[in-house]
Amino acid sequence: MTIRREKTKRKSWAVKMKNKLIELAKKAQKHAYCPYSRYPVGAAMLCESGRIYTGCNVENASFGLSMCAERTAVFKAVSNGEKKIREICVVAKSATPCGACRQVILEFADKKANVICVDWQPLEKKKEKIIQIRVSKLLYRPFDPSEAGL
Ligand SMILES: [Zn+2]
Repeated sequence: MTIRREKTKRKSWAVKMKNKLIELAKKAQKHAYCPYSRYPVGAAMLCESGRIYTGCNVENASFGLSMCAERTAVFKAVSNGEKKIREICVVAKSATPCGACRQVILEFADKKANVICVDWQPLEKKKEKIIQIRVSKLLYRPFDPSEAGL
């Protein structure tokens, strides 16, 4: 009985955290600077310390200088002393991290962590769709610094 109660407690905490990350990623999406693509993206990630960091995409007229929401959030977290990501959420129309973000996420995320991808656009009246990808499944044979002797 006690074990069952503990599992239920943990499950409800996980559900609450997932909902909180989605809510914060949606808030961050509102700050996206995307005058060129008009494709706003928001991200939120839970780190080992329990702190949550958010990010949005920030574009530039020199397109190559633009930055994705996920990497913005990762760099904010790392520059605040975080080294381990526990859960990540990305919100956009057909949201899913790009290849560059996947490699950066792999560098800092727990392999068992989930990337919560929320297909959602604030201006569309469609219901959001959520899929979860395990971090260990983000890339096929990713660049592994330990195998490269780094
Ligand atoms: Zn990206």
